[in-house]
Amino acid sequence: MAAGAGEPVLPSKGVCVVGGGMAGLAAARELRREGHAVTVMEQSGDVGGQWLYDHRTDAEDPLGATAPVRVPSSIYACLRLISPREAMGFSDFQFFPTDGEGRDPRRFPVHGELHCYLRDFCDAFGLMDTVRLNTRVLRVAPAPTSSRWAVRSVRLLGTTEDDDVAQEEEEVFDAVVVATGHYSQPMLPTDIEGMGEWTRRQLHSHSYRTPEPFLGEAVVIVGCGNSGNDIALDLCRVAREVHLAASSEATAATPAMSRVLMLANHGDVLRLHAWIRRLQADGRVEFADGSSVVADTVIYCTGYTYSFPFLDTAGAVTIDSDGYVVGPLFEHVFPLSLAPSLSFVGVAKKVLIPWFFEVAARWMAQVLSGRRALPAEEEMLRSVEEHLRAREAAGIESQKMYEFGEKYSDLAPLEEWKKELLMSSIASMMADVETFRDRAYDDSEIVRKGLRGWLDLAAQAQAKSMAVAVDVEAERACHG
Ligand SMILES: Cc1cc2nc3c(=O)[nH]c(=O)nc-3n(C[C@H](O)[C@H](O)[C@H](O)COP(=O)(O)OP(=O)(O)OC[C@H]3O[C@@H](n4cnc5c(N)ncnc54)[C@H](O)[C@@H]3O)c2cc1C
Repeated sequence: MAAGAGEPVLPSKGVCVVGGGMAGLAAARELRREGHAVTVMEQSGDVGGQWLYDHRTDAEDPLGATAPVRVPSSIYACLRLISPREAMGFSDFQFFPTDGEGRDPRRFPVHGELHCYLRDFCDAFGLMDTVRLNTRVLRVAPAPTSSRWAVRSVRLLGTTEDDDVAQEEEEVFDAVVVATGHYSQPMLPTDIEGMGEWTRRQLHSHSYRTPEPFLGEAVVIVGCGNSGNDIALDLCRVAREVHLAASSEATAATPAMSRVLMLANHGDVLRLHAWIRRLQADGRVEFADGSSVVADTVIYCTGYTYSFPFLDTAGAVTIDSDGYVVGPLFEHVFPLSLAPSLSFVGVAKKVLIPWFFEVAARWMAQVLSGRRALPAEEEMLRSVEEHLRAREAAGIESQKMYEFGEKYSDLAPLEEWKKELLMSSIASMMADVETFRDRAYDDSEIVRKGLRGWLDLAAQAQAKSMAVAVDVEAERACHG
């Protein structure tokens, strides 16, 4: 609704949201709530973004060296969430455990559970009406002679081979929201010699799905982040040797406790290494400490880079040469000279989702309707520069997540018990990456109390949906 009874009706905009993942769906819901006309364009055959598991991979380019990759999802089959479900729900549509076929009620469920939840979210808020599936956005650029945006898209016919014969279409919107995520386009190391000459198998974790293709192989994994650890453990079941190497000198210098435990549990197959210096044409992989192994495959679990190949802003929005920073964006949402008609939801890293997506999306929707105003461009620029200075000093992304929420949105802050649960889950993961999801949870009293209230709400929600189902059944019986 744009306005309550007695409130002035705010102007509504025609808005295109590019991407139907968690961020795009958050944007669609907030835009609708604010009375805008929304069209979500999603290239896949369903919503969910990363959480729509795809057994296909970018087989022609397993390193993902050429942008854009064709398969958006980087999720592998064994993946389970690292963040607790209690903290991963939309503010007014919690990620409650549900019974039912194919559902996983655990705190850290398998990836498909989050996909089911996102479908439920769409159903609860009627969002599928706004979504055009199998629709890839090819170009977003300022429309000639207006302050609107021309969006060129193509309807995909289901297989990548058919892409070229599908019909292209150009439409004009008042505003565009970019919600294409940043976990699809591989980031590859630049400091390993010989990657180009190595003739054996190399892939990025973006193209890893299951361990079976690596049966009996010696595999080197580059990068000990979440994906590197997960994939190493997955491969320990079938590979002859698994060599887990740090992705850089910096990460090698801080060996995590959890990796020491991994080694203790899988020492027959697993080896830990310093970062890689060189790949040799005969299959030998040389590490920084001078040791080497002969490998069949190298898998780069080296993260992802921003990529907006469809976006033409004539240089107003750029990605830095390392692929780490998009900008200049005021508070990671509005490009200075193109705000508010162009915005980004989901660009910030290391933030709690979907809470952060909701805050950004609600702010963007309210700025578009005029309910909230943006500062002058010079002030936004000052803020961006300050943020970059802070980032440089800290050496990492430093989004002040909770301050951002308070400043720009009327969304309730995340409950303290959820913040605490989140922090204790991270600590637990750092302590033992292999078992943290299934160990008996050592929740604090604050968390246990919060959880009790939350589970009461879950029971009420379940009872309500069962009552609705019974009513629908009774109605059917009356008319049938
Ligand atoms: C292996 C892995 C594990 C993860 N585990 C966790 C976890 O446990 N907890 C957590 O909080 N986060 C996790 N994440 C991060 C996860 O990506 C986010 O949770 C969330 O999915 C990001 O949502 P998004 O909507 O921003 O992006 P995405 O989910 O990537 O959605 C972007 C959407 O945009 C679409 N799109 C892109 N380009 C176009 C185009 N040109 N035209 C039309 N559509 C387009 C894509 O098809 C996609 O559907 C994980 C990520 C990966 C890769």
